[in-house]
Amino acid sequence: MAIQAPEGTKDMLPDEAAFWTQFKNTAAEVFGRYGYAPIETPLFEQTELFVRGIGEATDVVSKEMFTAISGENLKKLLDGGTLRAKSRLSLRPEGTAGVVRAVVQHDLVPQGAAPVKLMYAGPMFRAERPQKGRQRQFNQVGIECLGAEEPTVDAEAIIMLMQFYAAVGIPQDAMRLLVNSMGCDACRPAYREKVRAYLQEHADVLCDACQGRAETNPLRAFDCKNPDCARIMADAPKITDCLCDDCRAHYQAVKDLLAQAGVAFVEDPTLVRGLDYYTRTVFEVQVVDGLGAQNAIGGGGRYDKLTEEVGGRPTPGLGFALGYERCLLALQAAGAEFPAPERCAVFVACVDETVRAQAFALVQACRNAGARADMDHQRRSLKSQFKLADKLGARHVCVLGPDEVAAGSVTLRDMQTHEERMVPLAEVPSLVVG
Ligand code: AMP
Repeated sequence: MAIQAPEGTKDMLPDEAAFWTQFKNTAAEVFGRYGYAPIETPLFEQTELFVRGIGEATDVVSKEMFTAISGENLKKLLDGGTLRAKSRLSLRPEGTAGVVRAVVQHDLVPQGAAPVKLMYAGPMFRAERPQKGRQRQFNQVGIECLGAEEPTVDAEAIIMLMQFYAAVGIPQDAMRLLVNSMGCDACRPAYREKVRAYLQEHADVLCDACQGRAETNPLRAFDCKNPDCARIMADAPKITDCLCDDCRAHYQAVKDLLAQAGVAFVEDPTLVRGLDYYTRTVFEVQVVDGLGAQNAIGGGGRYDKLTEEVGGRPTPGLGFALGYERCLLALQAAGAEFPAPERCAVFVACVDETVRAQAFALVQACRNAGARADMDHQRRSLKSQFKLADKLGARHVCVLGPDEVAAGSVTLRDMQTHEERMVPLAEVPSLVVG
C-alpha cells in the first residue's frame, strides 16, 4: 500500500490551504488594528523551556510532547550515552513558551517600555489520541502581550478574539465565552490547598488520576472527564470565593470592560485551563453544538510569572491561542464552504502544434502583466482545451492558430457574456489583467 500521512496529521489540499492563508490574513488584519505584529519562532525548542514554562505535571508536558532527536544523538542514546540539556529538543506543543523565550532573549520589553504585542500562526504538535477536532499536528493562531498587567489588556484581547471569530464567519450565537480568574501568588496557594483537602476528603469516589492530582496538581481535577469526578468537582471550593482584593478588583474590571463593549460572557469558576502558567484572567471560547467533546475553539489567559520561569525579569503577560481546525469544523457545522478558488483570467488554446511556442509566449506575456493565465500542456484537442478552460474557470479564452499568428490578432472570448472580439495580440495582456 502507498504510504499514508502519519496518524493525527492532515494534508491541506489547495482549496483548504488557500482558506488557511486567508484565515491567517484575517487574523493579521484584525489583530493589526490592536497593534499586534507578527513573530516567527522555531518549531522546536529546548525541552527544558516547555518543562519550566508549561509545567512538568501538565498533560501536555508529561504525556504529549514529541521529543526530537537528531540522527547523531539517537545513536549516542542507543549506545547508552546521555544528552546535554541543549540537545534535548521538543516540537512545540503550544506557542506561548517560545514567544516568551524570544521576548526575554531579545529583551523586547526593556524596563519601562510600552508592552510588546506579538502574533503568530502555525503548527503545534501534541501526541494525543487523534479524534474529531484533535490532531497530533494542528494549527494555532495566537497572540501574546507582554509588559502590562492592566485589565484593559485582558479585555482588549478577549474583544479582539471575538471580533476575529466574527470576521471569519463563526456566528455569534454558535459560541460561548467563559471567563474566570485563577488568582495570583498571594491567593492561589491557599485555594490550591483547599481543593487538595477537598479531593482528599472525597478520595474514595475519585478516579486514580484525580487521586494523584491531589498531590501534584489539585486544580487539574476540574478538567477530569470522569462523571464521578465531575460530580464531586461541581461542589468543590470556588476560586472566585478565595481571590485576594487585588485579584478580585482586576477580575471585576475585566468583566466591566467586556460588558461595556457588549461582549457576552459566562463566568465559570471551574475553568482552570490545562497549563500551569496562568494567573488571574483565564478564558475559553466553546462552540455550542457540533464539535462534541473537543468544543474549545480558543482560549488563553494572563501569565504574570512566566517570564521569570524562563529566566527573564518579572514581566506581566497575557495571551491566547485559537485552533484553526476546530474553527473550520465550527464553520462547516454552520454550513460554510471554502470560497471558490480564484479564477484563471485567460486560457490560450492552440489550434495546432505549429503555434505552441507563440501561445506559450502569449501566456507568459499575460502572466508578466499580472494576470492568471494558462494553456494546455498535453497536446489536447481543441474541444478538450475548451473543457479544460471551463474547469479552470477561465474568464477569457483566446484561440490561437496560424492565421491569427500571421494577422497578429486573435479572437478574445468572454466566457461569461459569450462576447467575442478581435484584438491585436499585443493587447491581450492589458485586456485580461485585473
Ligand atoms: P490550548 O493551548 O490547549 O489552550 O489550545 C488552544 C486551542 O488550540 C484549543 O482551544 C483548540 O482549539 C486548539 N487545539 C488544542 N489542541 C488541539 C489538538 N490536539 N488538535 C486540534 N486543535 C487543538
